[in-house]
Amino acid sequence: MPFCYFCGLERLNNNKITSYIMYRTRTCGDLRLADEGLIVKLAGWVQKTRKMGGMTFVDIRDRYGMAQLVFDQENDAALCESANKLGREYVIQVKGEIRERSNKNKKLSTGDVEILVTELVVLNKSETPPFTIEDDTDGGDDIRMKYRYLDLRRTSVRKNLELRHKMTLEIRHYLDQQNFIEIETPVLIKSTPEGARDFVVPSRMNPGQFYALPQSPQTFKQLLMVSGFDRYFQIVKCFRDEDLRADRQPEFTQIDCEMSFVDQEDILTLFEGMAKHLFKSIRKVELLDEFPRMTWQDAMKYYGSDKPDIRFDMKFVELMDLLKGKGFKVFDEAAYIGGICVKEAASYTRKQLDKLTDFVKRPQIGAKGLVYARIKEDGSVKSSVDKFYDQDTLQGMKEAFNAEAGDLILILSGDNAMKTRHQLNELRLEMADQLGLRDKNKFACLWVVDFPLFEWNEDENRYQAMHHPFTSPKQEDMALLDTDPGAVRANAYDMIINGVEVGGGSIRIHDSELQNKMFKLLGFTEERAQEQFGFLMNAFKYGAPPHGGLAYGLDRWVSLFAGLDSIRDCIAFPKNNAGRDVMIDAPSPIDDIQLDELNLKVDLKKETL
Ligand code: ASP
Repeated sequence: MPFCYFCGLERLNNNKITSYIMYRTRTCGDLRLADEGLIVKLAGWVQKTRKMGGMTFVDIRDRYGMAQLVFDQENDAALCESANKLGREYVIQVKGEIRERSNKNKKLSTGDVEILVTELVVLNKSETPPFTIEDDTDGGDDIRMKYRYLDLRRTSVRKNLELRHKMTLEIRHYLDQQNFIEIETPVLIKSTPEGARDFVVPSRMNPGQFYALPQSPQTFKQLLMVSGFDRYFQIVKCFRDEDLRADRQPEFTQIDCEMSFVDQEDILTLFEGMAKHLFKSIRKVELLDEFPRMTWQDAMKYYGSDKPDIRFDMKFVELMDLLKGKGFKVFDEAAYIGGICVKEAASYTRKQLDKLTDFVKRPQIGAKGLVYARIKEDGSVKSSVDKFYDQDTLQGMKEAFNAEAGDLILILSGDNAMKTRHQLNELRLEMADQLGLRDKNKFACLWVVDFPLFEWNEDENRYQAMHHPFTSPKQEDMALLDTDPGAVRANAYDMIINGVEVGGGSIRIHDSELQNKMFKLLGFTEERAQEQFGFLMNAFKYGAPPHGGLAYGLDRWVSLFAGLDSIRDCIAFPKNNAGRDVMIDAPSPIDDIQLDELNLKVDLKKETL
C-alpha cells in the first residue's frame, strides 16, 4: 500500500490510524471545521500552555501552522496532569478528536477547531528557549543569531525561506522553458585582485598556494559560451570580502546567466520577462508595461544615484545658472548647486528643517549645510537665503521646479558635483522616508543602461572597470578608447527595483585583441594579463561566439518581495556585520596540526583584540 506521509493512510484506512510507524496523520496547519469528528495524530513543538479550570490548552506548532490541543481533566486526569507539565518547545505527539471550538480564533487558519487529546507522548524535552518563539519575539538580534535554529522556528522567518524556495523554483522553471541549462562551476578557483577582495583557501597539496572563492562565475560562464552551451544559468553562492551592510553578506547567492548570439536588447527582453514572471507568479502582480530605461548619465543627473528609486518623483533640478554669482559666497564658490522639490512639505517647521540640516551634515553624508525655500499660499517664496536673492530670482527658482503653493524646496551645493549629487540623493531618500513615499507594496522597476566602461581610481591613479574587465565598449564609442577612455560607454545594464540593484550584466568582449587592449587600459602588463586571464584569452582564439549575460542577486530579490529591511532575514544562516557566524563561532583559529599540514605559520602583522 503506498504510504502517504501526511494523510494518505488516514484516507485509505477509513480513518483508523495504524499508528506504529506514523508520528502524525495531519499537520498543525491544515485542520479545518470540515474535519470535525476525525481522529488525528499530530506532532510538533509546544508553543504555549494555559490552564483554565479543569481544562488545559496547549498550542502545538509545526512548519505548517499552529493548532489548539485540549486536555480535559474530567476525561483523563492523569493525561491532563502530564499536559500541565509540558514546557515551551517540548516536542510532543498527540492523538485526539477534532472538534469545533466554542471560542473561535479568526487570526489562526485552524482557529475554528481544537483537538480533544486522548494520547500524549513527549518525544523530547526542551530547555526553556532563550527568547520567545513568536513573531513578536522578545529576543534581540544577537541572541537570535546565536540560536538561529530556534529563530528559524518563528513563522515570519520560516515564511521568508519558503518564499525563497518558491522563487528559485519559478526562476528555474522560467529559465528551463527558455532553454537555459543549469551548470555548476568550481568553487575553488584562482584569485584575481580586480573587483572586490577575494576570500582565499590554502592548498595543502600545493604548499604556499591559494585558491580563491569565486566572486562570481564570470569567466567560467564565458568559457561555457565558447563551449557552445548557448544559454547557461546557475543559482550559485558567490563570495566577496567587502565591508558589510544591510544588503551585503560575505557569501550571497546569484542567479547567474549567460547567453550566446544575443545583443543587449535580447538580454533585456528575456530578463525583463523573468522579472515579470516572478512578479506574477509570486506577488500576483501583472506588470504589463515595459520597464522604463534611463541612461547612467541621466540617473546621476536627476537622482545622484545609479540605482534611483522611482516610486516617487523629486527629480533634481540644477540651479547653477540661477543662483551662482549673486553674492552668496557658499553658492558662488560651488561647482554644483541643485535641489529637490518636496510636494506639500512647506509645513515643515524650523525644528524639522534644522534636523534635516543635521542629517545632511552627518559625516556619512558630508554636506556643509542646507538651504530651503517654502512656497507660501500667496505664491511668494520664503527662503533661508532671502537676503541674497530678490523675489524675481526666487520666483525663477520656483518655476524651475514647477513648484506650487505649499511645496518645500531643499537645496545643496558643494565643490564636487558628483559628491554633492550623492548627498542630494541621500536627502531625497530621507524625505521620501519621512513622507512615507517608499511603500514596500508598490514596485517601480527600471533599467539603467549605458554605464561608463571605466571609472577613475584615485588611490591607484588608474582606470578600473566599472562593471568588470570583460564588458564590451559601445561600438560607437570605440574610437574614444584611445583618446578619452573615461568617456567610453559600455554595453552594461542594471535592473533596479525600488532603488535596489537586483541585477546587472553586460555584453562581453569576445575578441581576444580587444580584450588585450582592455587589460592594457586597466593597467595590466601583458605578463600579468596572461598570468591571470590567459586561459580566457586562449579560449577566445578558438571561436568565441558573441555573448553577454547578467546576474541577479537572489537575496535582494527575496528580501524585496518579502518587504525586509535586510537580506539577512531571507538567509537561513547569515553572518553578522562583522562577518561572523556567531552560532558556529566562525571564523576561528585552526589548530597547529592543520597549519602544519598546510605548511603555514600564522604571524599576525597587527595585534588583534
Ligand atoms: N558577474 C557579474 C557580477 O557578478 C554579473 C554579470 O556580468 O553577469 O556582477
